[in-house]
Amino acid sequence: MFRALVVEKNDEGKTHAAVQELDEARLPEGEVTVAVEYSTVNYKDGLCIGPGGGLVRSYPHVPGIDFAGTVAASEDARYAPGDKVVLTGWRVGEVHWGGYAQKARVKADWLVPLPEGLTTRQAMAVGTAGFTAMLAVMALEDHGMKPGGGPVLVTGAAGGVGSVATAILAHLGHEVAAVTGRPETAEYLTALGAARIVPRDEINETVKRPLEAETWAGCVDAVGGAMLARVLGQMKYGASVAAVGLAGGAGLPATVIPFLLRGVNLLGIDSVMQPYDNRLRAWRRVAADLPMDKLEAMIRPATLADLPGLGADILKGHVRGRVVVDVN
Ligand code: NDP
Repeated sequence: MFRALVVEKNDEGKTHAAVQELDEARLPEGEVTVAVEYSTVNYKDGLCIGPGGGLVRSYPHVPGIDFAGTVAASEDARYAPGDKVVLTGWRVGEVHWGGYAQKARVKADWLVPLPEGLTTRQAMAVGTAGFTAMLAVMALEDHGMKPGGGPVLVTGAAGGVGSVATAILAHLGHEVAAVTGRPETAEYLTALGAARIVPRDEINETVKRPLEAETWAGCVDAVGGAMLARVLGQMKYGASVAAVGLAGGAGLPATVIPFLLRGVNLLGIDSVMQPYDNRLRAWRRVAADLPMDKLEAMIRPATLADLPGLGADILKGHVRGRVVVDVN
């Protein structure tokens, strides 16, 4: 038997999440069974703990889009009992049962070995949000962003993606401008390395002029919507925006002028189907370029029983930094 957060749906279509004891025989198919140690709370988890947001296919469901733990049993030559592993993406926690459980069974292809230099707890403090922040920074670098090139904007900065992006960029020597709608997080963001706090209201209105002053040498955008549209017109010539999230909306009320007159690039970032080699590259970069004291400062500990409340909180934009769920 093992404990898990189980989401059930009633006849009226209402979902309800609670911790339950499950028999191991109920685990889905997969080559590797993992004794989960830690999971975390991402924006998508908020959707899957709640009404599903169209992501969950069938109920009862165990959410948790990422986890880290120790292999308990393996039918795949790449993994043996005792190996430490990490999982992000592949629609685990959405289509497939996820990490809000003491046991998970998944395909070997979906796992990566725990990156050298990280504990399972630190790996989940990074989690999908932090891994994706790293992918965004790598994409910006691949498109020419260099320290000294000018300020780099991070939107949704006090959230999970934003906090990790801020700490990584500052560590790499970039001047980070952190956009937040929560002025009370200014001290936190400065401690992570932000050189400047940009109030959300300053940048959150619909585009009035397609081009504004050339300000940002790069941007990690967790917000989308009107903010992303506005930021595009503020980018320096030839600079890039990594579009990661939609916390502010999925629409993009923009014009193409910044692309045509300033050669601005809009780079899409997907963490879910990311190929294995690039996953390893990103995790190695996390271990090298994210200072662990900064990561520690982002952590809020939680248990399985806290998850229904935390899921609702993250959808409202009320979670600061990274929640680390000790599933045991
Ligand atoms: P969080 O909720 O932790 O962070 C989102 C932040 O966005 C909030 O903390 C808040 O920051 C800001 N925000 C929230 N609502 C609004 C709004 N209406 N307008 C402007 N800003 C807002 O979520 P995550 O960091 O986990 O994820 C961020 C986004 O990235 C989500 O949309 C998520 O789905 C996406 N994502 C995408 C991935 C991919 O593979 N592409 C992977 C992981 C996440 P503040 O209070 O500082 O303003």
